Amino acid sequence: MRYSTTGASVAENAQPLVLSYIKGTLALAHNGNLINTPELKWELIQNGAIFHTTTDSEVIAFHIARERVHSASVEEAVYKTALKIKGGFALVIMSPRKPIGVRDILPGEVVTITGKEVQSKMLPAAEGRAHCIFEYIYFARLDSTMDGVRVYDARIRAGRMLAKSHPVEADLVTGVPESGLPAAQGYGLESGIPFALAFYKNSYIGRTFIKPTQKERESAVRMKLSVLESAVKDKRIVLVDDSIVRGTTIANLIRMLKEAGAKEVHVRISSPPFLYPCYFGTDVPSNSQLIAAKHSEEAICEMIGADSLGYLRREDLEEMTGGLPLCRACFDGAYPMDCSGV
Ligand code: AMP
Repeated sequence: MRYSTTGASVAENAQPLVLSYIKGTLALAHNGNLINTPELKWELIQNGAIFHTTTDSEVIAFHIARERVHSASVEEAVYKTALKIKGGFALVIMSPRKPIGVRDILPGEVVTITGKEVQSKMLPAAEGRAHCIFEYIYFARLDSTMDGVRVYDARIRAGRMLAKSHPVEADLVTGVPESGLPAAQGYGLESGIPFALAFYKNSYIGRTFIKPTQKERESAVRMKLSVLESAVKDKRIVLVDDSIVRGTTIANLIRMLKEAGAKEVHVRISSPPFLYPCYFGTDVPSNSQLIAAKHSEEAICEMIGADSLGYLRREDLEEMTGGLPLCRACFDGAYPMDCSGV
């Protein structure tokens, strides 16, 4: 599944894209966002191209099809296209005879599977690697290991560091299911405050974040999670979540805990304040909707109704991910490539 980041949420933009080209059928699925789509699209449009969708994925597919005319194989065409596109991307391409993955294994790797044979070719080294910090904070599956770093361990470490930088007296530590649970456990291990579940998650409801309107997002949070009242009544609670973006989720959960009788709710976030937009595909809203871009920590604490609020410190991110070179532009605005024209 791809977030409806570039292009609208309409059926034509659904993936995989399937198109007819010189060699038959080509299917393409893409995650991430490109930052040079307008130039790439303009190059095609000037030569008479027409598009059925508004996604950057179709632009990639078109470039592959065009390169294929002068290439010995589809993988060569994919490789040439991958040299031209800029931004954050992972692609799976299916030609009539072989699947090809781009970046699925190592950063910058193009892998082609032909029968039982697996071929790999590296794109020239990018100016510098910059692994997405948000994968470790939130996106990646908890049971995955990305570029040598176990995601579960990274989240536990973040929780431990949060307990050191933002200690508080409390009766229990809990996490927002599922995204806040490992860091909450880490907080509990470091602080000695017992970890407990405070919410039950209805697993038949999808991600609340994806709902298009604020009203839908708010009601979805309430339908998705219910409070385990006996666990929280009269308790001082540390509530851990992985991030605050708009602030909708956490504000609702604090209200629900207090309605269920919680005495105090101290919020701890296992990432630094989210201040800048992402151009590489994490589908965060524009600056105007990022609560931390517009308000101080004290103001946010009051707006969400918490008794205290503490974020992971930026300098702790290196330790969290074992020194990997990172893109952490969402926290510090230092983008790994020039995004000023995006
Ligand atoms: P909110 O502050 O209500 O906008 O939502 C923040 C919560 O949404 C975080 O705790 C994450 O669990 C989740 N989240 C953060 N970024 C994303 C994203 N790009 N897509 C989906 N969920 C996200």
